[in-house]
Amino acid sequence: MIRTDPAPAAAGLPVVLSFGMGVDSTAIALRWLTEPASRNFPLGQLTVLTAMTGDEPDVTRRLTEQHLLPLLRDTGTRFVQISRTSQRGGYTVLDDSRTPRRLIARGPWRLSDELRASGTVPQIAAKRRLCSLHAKGTVLDGWLGDEFGGRPFRHILGFAAEELRRAERDEGFTAIGRRPEYPLIDEWGWDRHRCEQYLLDTFGEPWSRSACGYCPFSAGRHGRAELIERWRAEPAVGAQALALEYTAMALNPRSKLYGTVSAQEVARRHGLVDVLGEFEEHLRRQRWSVYEVRRIIHARRDDPAAKGAAWRSVRTRFAGSRADAAAALAALTGGGAVTDQYGITRSEIIPRTSGYPAIEMALALAPAGVTDKERPAFGAWWERLHHQADLMPSVALAA
Ligand code: SF4
Repeated sequence: MIRTDPAPAAAGLPVVLSFGMGVDSTAIALRWLTEPASRNFPLGQLTVLTAMTGDEPDVTRRLTEQHLLPLLRDTGTRFVQISRTSQRGGYTVLDDSRTPRRLIARGPWRLSDELRASGTVPQIAAKRRLCSLHAKGTVLDGWLGDEFGGRPFRHILGFAAEELRRAERDEGFTAIGRRPEYPLIDEWGWDRHRCEQYLLDTFGEPWSRSACGYCPFSAGRHGRAELIERWRAEPAVGAQALALEYTAMALNPRSKLYGTVSAQEVARRHGLVDVLGEFEEHLRRQRWSVYEVRRIIHARRDDPAAKGAAWRSVRTRFAGSRADAAAALAALTGGGAVTDQYGITRSEIIPRTSGYPAIEMALALAPAGVTDKERPAFGAWWERLHHQADLMPSVALAA
C-alpha cells in the first residue's frame, strides 16, 4: 500500500509540487499523474509549479514537452510557469494552464544576464546556492504568497531519500501557511537512482538533471560527466559557461567556475572543440571594455588578522572594438598588461597589500556589458587606505 492518508489538518488543502524539472520532482509528478494510489488527494487540488532561471539546456524543454506535458494535459492538471521579472525582483507568470503545450524556458529575466552584468559566476565557495534563492526561491515565494495569501497549503519538495539534510534545512523555512512534505523521503524511500530508473523504465530514455548549463553546484564528482555530455550535445550551452567565466576571471582571476578547475580547462581536457569554437566566435562578436577593478578586503570583525568581507568597485574606463580596447589598455598601463593562459589580458596596478584591510587594483580587458558598481562607502574607504598603503611608484601613474 503506497498511499498514506494526509494528516487530518492537511486533508482538502491545495497541494503545490515544486517542479524543478529534474529527476526527483519529475518522478513524483509522473507517479502522481499515472498511479492514483500513490497520492492522497485528487489531481484537481494539485498545482505543478516551476520557476525558470532562463538558462536550462534545451534537453530539459524537450523531455518535459515530450513526456510530461501530455500527462498534465490528459489529466487536466494545473501547471504554472513563472520567472523573475527583473534584477530588482517580482515575478512574471509565463503560463498558467491545465492544457500546457510548451515549456517556456525563458522569461523576461535570465540568471546569466545578471551574472554577465555583474561580471560574476555562481559562487560555490559560499556553499549556499544564493543564485538559486535569487532565481527560484524568492520568485516561488512571491507567487505562493499571492496565490494563498497566508492560507494553508501542502508544499511538496522532491528531495531524494539521501537528501535528508536538505529536507531538514527546508523544514526550517516555514512561511505562513506552508506545510512542507517530502514524499520521496518520508513515504516512498526513493533515492536518486530509483527515481532515474523509474523515469527510464516509463519514458524509455534517461531523464537529464535539471540545472543551468553552467551550474557549478551540479558539476561535482558525479555531475561532471553529465555536464561534459551536455556541452558536447549543446555546444552553445558550454560556450555560455566559458563566456561567463571569462569576464568573471578578467575582473577576478580567482573566479574559476568550478573552484579549482576552470570551464575552459574542462572544455580543453575533454576535447570539446565545438564548445571552444563557439566561445571564440562569441568573443569575436563582442564589443570590449577596459575595466578598472578595485577591491577592499576588510578584516574580520572578531579577528583583525583574518580576512573578512570584500568590497569591489568596477568602472568602465573605455569601450569599443577589441583592438581599440586593447590599445586603450596598453596606453593606460604603459604596455604593462599581460595575457594569461585563458586569453585574458589584465594588468595588476596595485597588487594586494599586506594585512587587513587590504586593497588591490587592476585594469582588465573583457567583453562590454558589466555594469559600473560600487557601494556608497567605497570611495571614502579607498581614499583613506590608498593613501596609507605603501604603494609602488607605478600605482600613482595608472591610478
Ligand atoms: S541550477 Fe545551479 S547555477 Fe542555476 S540557479 Fe540553480 S544552483 Fe544556481
